[in-house]
This record gives sequence, structure tokens and C-alpha cells, in this order.
Amino acid sequence: MVQINRGGNVPPPPPARRVPLIAGNWKMNLTVDESLALIDEMLEDLDAYEEVETVICPPFIALFPAMELVEDSGIKLGAQNMFYKDSGAYTGEISPLMLREVCDYVILGHSERRLYFNENDEDINLKVKAALKDDLTPIIAVGENLAQREDNLTAEIISNQVEIALNDVNAYDASSVVIAYEPLWAIGTGQAASAETANEVCKFIRQTIVRLYDQSVADRVRIQYGGSVNPANISDFMCESDIDGALVGGASLKAADFVKIVARTQECIPRKKK
Ligand code: PEP
Repeated sequence: MVQINRGGNVPPPPPARRVPLIAGNWKMNLTVDESLALIDEMLEDLDAYEEVETVICPPFIALFPAMELVEDSGIKLGAQNMFYKDSGAYTGEISPLMLREVCDYVILGHSERRLYFNENDEDINLKVKAALKDDLTPIIAVGENLAQREDNLTAEIISNQVEIALNDVNAYDASSVVIAYEPLWAIGTGQAASAETANEVCKFIRQTIVRLYDQSVADRVRIQYGGSVNPANISDFMCESDIDGALVGGASLKAADFVKIVARTQECIPRKKK
């Protein structure tokens, strides 16, 4: 049974506005040399957009050398996955304790992890708690597939995924997580959700956080949209009231596109709908 944990220290008052967060998920692409070259190509340009928090999630082995590269910039690093134990006989896995030496964020529950590696909501909850314990900020990916959307199951699927991912997470920790709404039918397909549809679900996720915790926690949680985001459509998403950033796949592998996505996100800050 899901346990709501409303304990923990009271989170600080919500900020006047949530800082937009753009994260590039490079997936299983690029060698270490290629990764460093791509970071190098966009670093200076990205650093000009100080009002946007920008995170790059390269393959694990590029994280360590990338750390040196981004050291004096505002760019942060994230991992694409992790196991929930700190150490032990888990061949091939990587732990939060190892990751926190090299990055600030970790993507958990991406649909490709759920689909190809059989991760379920309970596994993701264990990972979320382990990440928080070791001071990593989880970017928790949730989303429905096309059949579920067509059967009007989106709200049920999303609220279950959010609720189980946050099982036994206290209010203080919950207020620091990032949730990425990534409808499966929009990932890598070139068929992004409309900004209205994405905002509707992001708003529903925020209401779910209010139900699980309270308004002040919900006001702090950043909710991203992900699925075929590109320089041409990012502004539509970023002007919506409840979309606080984007998780970007394909377009994050092209320096010019990723820089434009970050630039347009910053431009949208004064135009944000209430
Ligand atoms: C993703 O995989 O998280 C993603 C959003 O991919 P894309 O931007 O390529 O649709």
C-alpha cells in the first residue's frame, strides 16, 4: 500500500517563481571524446542563459571527464539511471554514492527503462528514495502510452506513477524532486503533444502533489514536459503555466538546437501564463 509521508522538515516557502530546468538526455549515444566535444561546442553559449538551469545527461563514462569541463560554468550534469544500493555485489550497476561525486541530477523511470529493462513503479520508488538520501535530485519520468490515452486512462496512469514514485518520501524531499511528463507516443516520434495537452497533464501532476502533500510542496516541484521538443516548439511549452522546463532527447545531441531551446526558454520567462 502506498504510504503518504507528510513528515520531514517543513520545506522553505515556495520561490516567487520556479526556475526553468532544461535537461538533455543523450541516451546511449556518443563516445567520451564525442561527448566532451559536444559539451565544449555548446558550453559558452549555454552559460549565457543564467535564468535557466541547464543539465546535460551524457553516458555514465563521460560524466567524470565532463565534470572538469563544466566546473567553472553554470551547467550541471545528470545521470540517466542508477541502482538503489550504495555498494555491493550488483555487477554492472552504478550507485547514488558514486554518482553524487560527479553529478547533481539523475533521471529515474524513463519509459525506455520501464520498457526495455522491466523497471516498475516500485523499483523507481526505491531509486527515488536512494537518490534523495545521497543528495541527488531525481528527475522522475512518468507518462502514458497511446492505447492508455485513447482509453482515457491518462489521469489514472499518471497519478499512480507519481504516487508510487513518492511512496514514503517526506514533504521536504518531495518538494525538491523534478517530475518529467513524457507521453510515450511523443518520445522520439516527432509528434510532440500540444502545449495545451502537456500543460493539462502537468497541472494534473501538480494537483496530485497537492493531494499527496500540500500546496506549498506542489508550488515548489518543477514539472517538465518531454517528447519531441525542438527549437520550433519549445516556446509554446515554456509559456504555459505549469510547465517548468523540458527533458530533451534527440535535439539535445545537436549543439545549436539545444542552445536555442535554452535561449527560448529564457525568453519565455516574462511571457509565462499565470
Ligand atoms: C526522451 O527520451 O526523454 C525524449 C524526450 O526524447 P525526444 O526528445 O527525442 O522525443
